[in-house]
Order: sequence, then structure tokens, then C-alpha cells
Amino acid sequence: MSAQLPTALTQLTPDERMFRDTVRRFATTEITPLVRSMDDSQQMNSALLRQLYSLGLMGIEIPEQYGGSEGSFFDAILAVEEISAVDPAVGVLVDVQNTLCINALRRWATEEQKQRYLTRLAADTIGAYALSEAGSGSDAFALETRAVLDGDHYVLNGQKLWITNAKEAGLFIVFATIDRNAGYKGITAFLVEKESPGFSLGKKEDKLGIRASSTCELIFRDCRVPAANVLGEPGKGYKVAIETLNEGRIGIGAQMLGLAQGAWNHAARWAKERKQFGQPIASFQAMQFQLAEMATEIEAARLLVYNAARLKDAGQEFLKEAAMAKYFASHIAERVASLAVEVYGGSGFVKDYPVEKLYRDAKIGKIYEGTSFMQLATIAKLVL
Ligand SMILES: Cc1cc2nc3c(=O)[nH]c(=O)nc-3n(C[C@H](O)[C@H](O)[C@H](O)COP(=O)(O)OP(=O)(O)OC[C@H]3O[C@@H](n4cnc5c(N)ncnc54)[C@H](O)[C@@H]3O)c2cc1C
Repeated sequence: MSAQLPTALTQLTPDERMFRDTVRRFATTEITPLVRSMDDSQQMNSALLRQLYSLGLMGIEIPEQYGGSEGSFFDAILAVEEISAVDPAVGVLVDVQNTLCINALRRWATEEQKQRYLTRLAADTIGAYALSEAGSGSDAFALETRAVLDGDHYVLNGQKLWITNAKEAGLFIVFATIDRNAGYKGITAFLVEKESPGFSLGKKEDKLGIRASSTCELIFRDCRVPAANVLGEPGKGYKVAIETLNEGRIGIGAQMLGLAQGAWNHAARWAKERKQFGQPIASFQAMQFQLAEMATEIEAARLLVYNAARLKDAGQEFLKEAAMAKYFASHIAERVASLAVEVYGGSGFVKDYPVEKLYRDAKIGKIYEGTSFMQLATIAKLVL
């Protein structure tokens, strides 16, 4: 009697391999030529956005009945990893769309909301996820944006800060409180369309890294949102936020994993081509050991990220694994990108070569969707 053994974590099904290879080819051939100009101009290329839709990468887990690709969460993770190996700014756009916005709608939306919004997200609408405010980041549920019921609408007032995809987005998942005295039990999630009266974009941030990804302030001044656009139940927004962010952080782990792999690929290629003392610098043991150590760390991060994603798809507990994946992948992304700059020598410090940008892009991994300290707090709670 032989029980079926679990396969290796890095073993992909034939469909997953084909999907990964398609995304890798697309990222290499179509995104690579745009990376520098998008970073310099702080603009996402609009033709690229259309390509992401036509490849089905903006609706990976959306069921076919709503026009999506009906893939798995693991597929979304593979896509974010492969795209981020070329450009983590495009990686986070795809990540927020799939692992936060679509995930939240799949889990919490009514059938009517799914018909209305999942179809748009699959076709041409970009989503954004608006939780943070000036006074509430790590302490997210201290948010102050208010929502007051007025007939069949809620009226929203307040401001959100740091919202990814905001400039391109047509749909925003916005968290506001309907009762400040109720604490986190007043928090409610709303589906807010860009055209809603009283809604506008504020300042667009000028950032260190992932510069092509837009990050903006959102302003709500007597913004009217139909009561039918509450996502989940009134007062249950904290659950919507916690549960989506628990999954979303695996996506950031994938973004950082891809970034690290991209930086390593550049460093290894350079080490084999660049000659000093009459030989390729890759022939020096010091260089080999650095590249070997980085490759080991990347593999460890990949195992953490894939394991968390596989657990999520299997419907098993993944909270600790997701926090560890995000914590570790963002740690090694910064380290590997930094070492890649050193492998390039002076050329690593200038914009003519790709590793300088990856080094800048890596920093965000330890900050958004829960800082590294917040991940450690979650891990500590679960292991102690
Ligand atoms: C580029 C970018 C994109 C973003 N995209 C989004 C988005 O799409 N949607 C969204 O809602 N938000 C987004 N954010 C916001 C992001 O999630 C927050 O910036 C993050 O959660 C940290 O919050 P904060 O900036 O207020 O820092 P703070 O919470 O003020 O933290 C400052 C420091 O204090 C530490 N700290 C705080 N509390 C504790 C504690 N209890 N114990 C130990 N250390 C602690 C933190 O770890 C950090 O080092 C984005 C931010 C950036 C920069």
C-alpha cells in the first residue's frame, strides 16, 4: 500500500509551467524595453495595461462566467513573481488587482456586485485598495474616514493616503467607519467608482522606487456611494481587510521574490561577462560564493512563498506562513539587490544598468501591506 506523497513545492503542473513560461516571455520581451522610461517618467505605459488585460493577467482568479481566466491563487503568485523579475512596479499593479481587489470581491461581493464589478475588472477596469490614512498605517483600524447613511446612500468624508494604482483605477475598495464609538466594529468596506460625486484624487507621491506604480491620496467630500455598494456587511469591514491582507501579503512576497531573482539573473550574467585581472569576475571564488549564497536565499524565499500560496489554495491555515514569506522575501530582496549593485561595481550605481532600479524598488517590500515589524508581531503571536 503506497500513500501518495506530496510533490516538491517547486514542482509545477504542466498548466502552471506553461502559464509561467508565457508570463516570463511576455515580461522579458514586452516589459523590458519599457522599464527605464516608465521609471523616469513615473508613468505606467497604457499600451502595456491593455496587453496585461488581453493576456488575462488582470483577472487571473475571476471565474469564466464573469470573463476571467479562472486560474488559481498560485497562478496569480507566479504571474506577480515573473513580472516583478523584470519590473516590480508592474508587479505590484498586477498584485493589487488580483490578490487584494479581486480576492476581496470573490469572497465578499453579492452576486449582483460580482456581475457588475468582476466583469469590469476582468475586462478593462483597474482596482485599488484604500485602507491607509495619514494617521493610521500599522494601526490600520484607527482610520478616521467616516460614512453616514442618508437614505439609500452612504456619504463618505475623509482622506486616504498611499493608495497604489489610484491614478489608473476605476474601482476603489474603501474602508470607512460608520460608528467611531464601535472601534474596529464600525469599519465598513465600500465599492467606490471613480466617477462617484464627491470623490477625487489628491497628491501623487514622488517615490524612491516602484516609480511607475502610482501612489496617491484619495479625497472624499460628501462622496455619495449607494448602500448597495457595501462589500460584505456594515461593520464587518475589519474582516474584509484582515482576510484580504492575509492573502495579499503572499503576493508581496512573490513580488520581492521575483525582484530578487531578477537582480540575481543580472548579477550572474554580468559576473560571467565582466573581465578583471584577465578573467571573468565570476571565476573569483569570492564572487562565486556571493552568487551561491544569494541563490540559496532566493530558493528559501521561493519555498516560503509557494508553500503559503499552496496552503491558501488547499483551504488550509496559512497565516503564519504568509507572514514569514513576506518578511523573508522582502529581507532577501533588499540584500540580493544590494549585492547585485556591488557585483556590477561602478556600473551598478548608474541608471544605464538595471540593478540600480531594483535596489530602489526593493525597499518597499519591508513597508507596505504590513511592515516587517508587523509581520514579526504576527509570527511571534503564532509561534509563542
Ligand atoms: C508605495 C506605497 C504603496 C502603498 N500602497 C497602499 C495601498 O494600496 N493601500 C493602502 O491602504 N495602503 C498602502 N500603503 C500604506 C502602507 O501599507 C503603510 O505605509 C504601512 O502599513 C506602514 O504604515 P505607516 O506608513 O503609517 O507607518 P507607521 O505605522 O507609522 O510605522 C512607522 C514605523 O513604526 C513601526 N511600528 C509601528 N507600530 C509598531 C509596533 N506596534 N511595534 C513595533 N514597530 C511598530 C513600523 O514597523 C515602522 O517601522 C502604501 C505605502 C507605500 C509607501
